[in-house]
Formats: sequence, C-alpha cells, structure tokens
Amino acid sequence: EAHKETRGFQTEVKQLLHLMIHSLYSNKEIFLRELVSNAADAADKLRFEALTRPELLEGDGALRIRIEADPAARTLTIDDNGIGLSRDEAVAHLGTIAKSGTADFLKNLSGDQKKDANLIGQFGVGFYSAFIVADQVDVYSRRAGLPASEGVHWSSRGEGEFEVATIDKPERGTRIVLHLKDSEEGFADGWKLRSLVKKYSDHIGLPIEMRREAQDEEQPAAPEWEAVNKANALWTRPRSEISDAEYQEFYKHIAHDFTDPLAWSHNKVEGKLEYTSLLYTPGRAPFDLYHRDAAKGLKLYVQRVFIMDQAEQFLPLYLRFIKGVVDSSDLPLNVSREILQSGPVIDSMKSALTKRALDMLEKLAKDAPADYQRFWKEFGQVLKEGPAEDFNNREKIAGLLRFASTHGGDGAQDVALADYVGRMVQGQDKIYYLTGESYLQVKDSPHLEVFRKKGIEVLLMTDRVDEWLMNYLHEFDGKSFVDVARGDLDLGTLDSEEEKKAQEETAKAKEGLAARIKTALGEDVAEVRVSHRLTDSPAILAIGEQDLGLQMRQILEASGQ
Ligand code: ADP
Ligand code: MG
Repeated sequence: EAHKETRGFQTEVKQLLHLMIHSLYSNKEIFLRELVSNAADAADKLRFEALTRPELLEGDGALRIRIEADPAARTLTIDDNGIGLSRDEAVAHLGTIAKSGTADFLKNLSGDQKKDANLIGQFGVGFYSAFIVADQVDVYSRRAGLPASEGVHWSSRGEGEFEVATIDKPERGTRIVLHLKDSEEGFADGWKLRSLVKKYSDHIGLPIEMRREAQDEEQPAAPEWEAVNKANALWTRPRSEISDAEYQEFYKHIAHDFTDPLAWSHNKVEGKLEYTSLLYTPGRAPFDLYHRDAAKGLKLYVQRVFIMDQAEQFLPLYLRFIKGVVDSSDLPLNVSREILQSGPVIDSMKSALTKRALDMLEKLAKDAPADYQRFWKEFGQVLKEGPAEDFNNREKIAGLLRFASTHGGDGAQDVALADYVGRMVQGQDKIYYLTGESYLQVKDSPHLEVFRKKGIEVLLMTDRVDEWLMNYLHEFDGKSFVDVARGDLDLGTLDSEEEKKAQEETAKAKEGLAARIKTALGEDVAEVRVSHRLTDSPAILAIGEQDLGLQMRQILEASGQ
C-alpha cells in the first residue's frame, strides 16, 4: 500500500454514524439493501458513461454484483464491477455527506432513539449503515478507465477517522469487506443472505450472484456463481407479476428513503410515443423539501439504460415530491439536459405524466382517505402551488386540496371542496373563505358571525401560500370563491326580503354616524360603511374588493416592497 494517510470524518458523518449505530439496531439488515443499491447505482453509472466511452467496459460488459460470506473469518464481501471510485472520490464520497441542509437536519434530532430512527429514514442511510453490523469496513476500488495501479483502499472502524492508501487493483469496480461484529456473525450465513437479497433486492436490474451452495455429490466443485434475484428491472415486468412488497422495495432503492410509499402508478404507454413510467407518492417529506437544490425529478432511462437521476423536465414543480422512473424508447441514448428542456416528445410526456400523478393522488384520496391525510400533511403546501403553475389542471388540482373550515372545529385541513359544495345550504352559490395568520386567530373572527347565524360553512385558510393560491383559484364546480373579509359582502339570495329591507333601514338611520366616524378616522380608512355581517361585534375592519390581502401585504413588506 502506498501513500497511506489518515483522515477525519466530517462532523456530520460522525454524528450520523453514532446515531445509526444506536438507533437502527432493531433494523440492522437494511445495510445489505443499501450496499447492493450502491453497487447497482455504480453499474448504472458505468453503463451510462460507456455510451460515449465504450473502452471503459475494458472488454467486460457483463455487469453483476457478487456477495460472498466467510463464516470462519466472520467477513461479508459485496463486490461489483461498476464504475468504481478513484482515491479522491473515495475520500469525498465516503468521508462526507454532500446533501445540503444535513447539519440542520442533525441538529433537529431529539436524542430519543425511537423518534430518531424514524427521522433518519427520511434522510436515507446509505453506505454508513455498514457500521451497524461491522466494526471494520474495508473498501477496495478502482475507477473504470484508470490504470490498475490507481486503485484505492479505504478502511475505517467507524470511529471518527478513516485511512486511504493507493493499491493495485486489476479488476475495475468496488469490493466492500465487512468485518462483522461478534454479535452479527449471523450475517455470514449463506441462506440468510439469500433470503435478504430476495427480500430487499429482487427488483435490482442486474444479477446479484452468490456461490452455489455445495451439493453432496458435486465434489470438489469449482466455485460456481448463480444469480439469486430475478435480475430484470422491475418496471419492465408486467404489473400482475409484481407484489406490493417489491414495489415498496424498489421505491426505497430509487428514492433513497426507507419509509414505505403511500401509492404508486405503473404504466406502459404504446403507440406514437413509447415509454414506461412508475411513479410513487412518498409517505414522508424529505428533510430538504424546501431547499432549492433538493433532489427532484424522475430517474430517466432510455431503453433500459440509465441516463440520469433527477430529470426535472417530466413533472411540474408543484409535483416535485413525486419519485419514480421513466424509461423512454423515443429519446436518443445521448440525450442531454439541454435536449430535455423542450420539444414535442418531452412536452407530451410531461403532460401525460402530470395527469398520471394527479390521478394517483385522486385515487389515494378516494380509496384511502387516512393515507391521503398523511400525504396532505407532508406535501399539501407544495400541491397548493399547483393552480398558479398549471392552468390546464386547475380544476383537478382544486379537487385535491384540503382546507380547515368552520365545519370541523379543530383546525384540521381535511375538507375537500367537493365536501364543502355537498354541504352548501339552500340558495348558496358561492364558496366562502377567510384567510389569516393562524387557525386560532381566524376561528372566532367577527367576519364569521353572520355565517354562523345562517349555518353557512366558511373555509379557513391560514397557510402562507393561501392568499396567493386564491389569486389563481377562481371557481370550483362552477361556484366562485368569495373572501368574507372583503368589501361589502352581498349574501344575495341567502338574505330574505325582510332582512334586506331591515338592512336598508338601518343603513339609512346610521348614515350620519358612519359619516362622523369617517371624519374622525380620516385618511386611515378608505370608507366607513354600515355592515349587516355582524351580529355581536360592533365594528370590523374589512379589506377593499381590489386591495391586497393581509398575508400578501406582509409578504411584500418582508421582501422590502
Ligand atoms: P447515496 O447512495 O444516497 O449517494 P451512499 O451513502 O449510499 O449515498 O453512498 C455515497 C456515495 O459513495 C455514492 O453516491 C457513491 O458516489 C459512492 N459509492 C458508494 N458505494 C459505491 C460503489 N459500490 N461503487 C461506486 N461508488 C460508490
Ligand atoms: Mg446509497
């Protein structure tokens, strides 16, 4: 070994390692899924780079992953002939965490192991999970295209530092050797490993090989490797042959998440355009959902060859939480991000995939309302960006929105517009809403008095995006939205003739009073008017019909306008 040096892990890695070892002990076996998943990613990357540089395959294009255990030595080896790592890459990728916002995320952990184990699921554990079962990990790797003399040996006991050295490694790719902890020697058992591969990695699109278990008669058999998994990419298989568990495991592989998804939609499109898509609704928002550079977009394949992660062109931004794969037969293999920017193929795929995603959410809302509530809590704010971004699907998106209302009484956002419309009173033809800072602030607002009296439901909107959303949402099911805090509220046919007459008389009688108040308040108010919307409160501030709402004003003021 040459040029050996010792390096310290980035602080975040140390914290993550500590956390993982102490909070994931009840779910240890996932380390195998993570390492196999990385090996599969490495094969994908090699296939992609070899499209333009076939020499990278070094005459061996049969990509595979091999798993071998040695119970006597208590080691477990995962070997791949994928893209491999250079020395610099090993230091960078196996010593730091590149994700933005990681430090903030780790700060938010509670120290409560159960809760943290849950949180860490949304972070994705990856390579470092090897230290859950191993007290030493050795990585031997060589990047495709580099000479045999430029291999790297990375080694660590997971305790704050690691060593790197330059080695000779004739075979391209990465071999990871886990030195199992005393208590974890069970992971060196061939049958157990086979069952774990089946359980977690059956969907992986390249062979995962293990040595054939020796049969009594076959003596002394030359070691033979056999594939343990199905080894064809999951999305290429017919839906009827894929179990829910397989769909879930595949999600975890592509999304780097280990919470189960809530729903998925798998479709093969044939005809003018040919492609297969598999879209997922995650069960939990990633910790960096609101980071600008957070991962978004689909994994793009062209004729089963991996092209890129995070192809953002196939879904609108307001669906950026959707994860999945799209495999096209129409795009060229050398497709680039620039080519993806637009064009009829991309446009038509985008609109079809958008519709698929919205249909998947509609179905979830209909078939599993409790799951839909979970979805809404995690991603509702993002979906609310939809009506502004996607004019064509406005009505469809509106149907997916959920609001708090005076009907519920606990502030939960669980009222669909269709529910609201179904509860409208005789003669009501508008959808009433009130915006504000918080549920507590709006729930007893004087604006609601007249609606309470008449038994009319009012939607209560207290998310920051709501006023902005309502600028783009004008009607639902043919009924227009009315902000109850705006202008002179005309309840139309909801007021009886007698009520209207009484209102006119009061207005006449109080004209003088209103004029005196206007004189007293001067320029601070635009107008003083006799109102019929109050039943208990003496006065109320209303917003002019054309004026900005309060939230919008605050947003603009905060941004210095
Ligand atoms: P993620 O897979 O989410 O990127 P991991 O912690 O699992 O995070 O892996 C970190 C990085 O280490 C990978 O992104 C990759 O660059 C590198 N890596 C891990 N395993 C391999 C492998 N078998 N071959 C090549 N690179 C690998
Ligand atoms: Mg990984």
